[in-house]
Amino acid sequence: MAEHGVAQIWRKIKSMYNIIGNHCTTCNTYYFPPRPVCPKCRRKGHLEDYKFKGLGTIHTFAIVRQVPEDFKTQAPYVMAQVELDEGTRLTAQIVNCDAEDVSIGMRVRACFRKITEFGHGGLIVYGYKFEPTMKVTGHKR
Ligand code: ZN
Repeated sequence: MAEHGVAQIWRKIKSMYNIIGNHCTTCNTYYFPPRPVCPKCRRKGHLEDYKFKGLGTIHTFAIVRQVPEDFKTQAPYVMAQVELDEGTRLTAQIVNCDAEDVSIGMRVRACFRKITEFGHGGLIVYGYKFEPTMKVTGHKR
């Protein structure tokens, strides 16, 4: 990939260095990604931008072993649905622990890291990943 292409993508990702969603002050519901209209309140809803604290719990997860050729070095990795403390869920990769050590209910926090591979086979690139808040016992590396 050409250098300038990487720089362009990197600028774009920097704007994702916070988990920004929104919050309906009418029904006290948080949304990520942000919604243009609160689906519960419709026109009565009042949405404000909200920066999530980045703390949550693993709701479900999957260990991904089959990855595109270019990603072999990262396999296996864990994709999880994280329930943020504010009550909304998002999908993210879990890092800084072995795939076997990930469990439902594990406390995680958002961490932001440089992403080194882009766009192959329509891969969705997120600026954030999640890591355990506590050091996992039995961690081998
Ligand atoms: Zn609402």
